[in-house]
Amino acid sequence: MDPCPTKPGVLASYVNDLWEDHVIDALSSYVAIPCLSPDFDPSWADNGEIGRAARLLSEWAASRSLPGCAVEIIEHEGLTPAIIADVPATPGAATRLVTLLYGHLDKQPPLGSWREGLDPFVAVREGERLYGRGAADDGYSIFAAIGALAALAATDTPHGRCVVLIEASEESGSPHLGPYLEDVEARIGAPGPGLVVCLDSGCATYDRLWNTISLRGSLVVTLSVEVLSEGVHSGLAGGIVPSSFRLVRQLLSRIEDEATGEILVPECLAEPPARYLAAAETMAAELGKAALGEFPAVPSLEFSGRAGADRLLRRTWMPSLAVIGIDGVPSVKDGGNVLRPFTTAKLSLRLPPSVDADRAAEAVASTLSANPPQGARVKVVVVNAARGFDAPPQAEWLARATDEASEALFGRRAGAMSEGGTIPFLAELASLFPEAQFLVTGVLGPGSNAHGPNEMLDLVTARRLTAAVACVLAAAP
Ligand SMILES: [Zn+2]
Repeated sequence: MDPCPTKPGVLASYVNDLWEDHVIDALSSYVAIPCLSPDFDPSWADNGEIGRAARLLSEWAASRSLPGCAVEIIEHEGLTPAIIADVPATPGAATRLVTLLYGHLDKQPPLGSWREGLDPFVAVREGERLYGRGAADDGYSIFAAIGALAALAATDTPHGRCVVLIEASEESGSPHLGPYLEDVEARIGAPGPGLVVCLDSGCATYDRLWNTISLRGSLVVTLSVEVLSEGVHSGLAGGIVPSSFRLVRQLLSRIEDEATGEILVPECLAEPPARYLAAAETMAAELGKAALGEFPAVPSLEFSGRAGADRLLRRTWMPSLAVIGIDGVPSVKDGGNVLRPFTTAKLSLRLPPSVDADRAAEAVASTLSANPPQGARVKVVVVNAARGFDAPPQAEWLARATDEASEALFGRRAGAMSEGGTIPFLAELASLFPEAQFLVTGVLGPGSNAHGPNEMLDLVTARRLTAAVACVLAAAP
């Protein structure tokens, strides 16, 4: 079978024109909408920004006039809306495989100050870079998905049925996605999608098509230790009343080795399967130092682990703990000689991809709350537990199709990468559709700065990725 019956060059040239003539303007209008995710904008329902973005994007999708395609905005009561574009198989297409293409339209807040000349809500193009909040994460996704299908239609390339789902709660951990997934499941019917293309991931470099094969899970817990009902002069209480900060330290040492950062709770540990070791070795050998990326570290800082594959695996398959917030402690400027009544720490754990996040949460919570030291009042609250993603091994047709698409459009074979971050809905998708194959890719590469200031979409990559998705859809068996 020919992996891509239409020459990738023909698809690429259609896609390039589409991006120049029709996508950049619409994507720029989307950048202008402050459609922040519900976690960052509790009044999203009243101010209507998410609804506005959904209308803009769905109207653009409908304007492509894909044969037989219905584009709808669906709105479940009290939830952010989702766009569903249902594109029937080309008449006479050989494949019966149904593909689900996923993206999201909600955004992170501006976060930090943007460099001069840039503004989170004004799209600015500098050569092949488009700056603005949401351009890369993940506004481009509907343009890539619909653009790929438009390229197939324009070149008479047959493809199977495709359902494009663009949700609007991803940056809050996708709490509103469930009912929309059920809608998609009901539409597609058994046996569900044979392929899921997720357009919300990253790329280690811009020189090839990257497939994310695993992501870590995440666990957020608050730990409170209370020793007094109000603060007492430390000259009176110090040495008698235990410091709540010390007790927090002591409790943290139950779950983390403070000298090495090793996580000690067995429910938070997992061994990476052999294919992940191989992928890390390949990536480290090919990309060298770039495989890990750059950290703004102080010059004397020693990183944990050994350079190369070991550090890649530490980031993607080892659990780690960060204290991301603390209450009950005044700023340094305001601190006085007092024995404070309590300390509350917000803990963020990254979990290995195959770990059951709920079990890990239970184990961490019970380890922290058992036998409170010196009888202090200890309270542990699990804020959020999100399972990671451990992709099923790739079917031969998909591995071949992604390699060929990558080679034709980027000039190199596709790459496989594991990510240290979390995309909660992937675990949901994988358990809902256990038979599905996954292509998890995206444009969040070096300098794209999603979630930070100066978010940037690399337009060359966005166009190539659009054409590559078209090639993969055309190759479905
Ligand atoms: Zn995203």
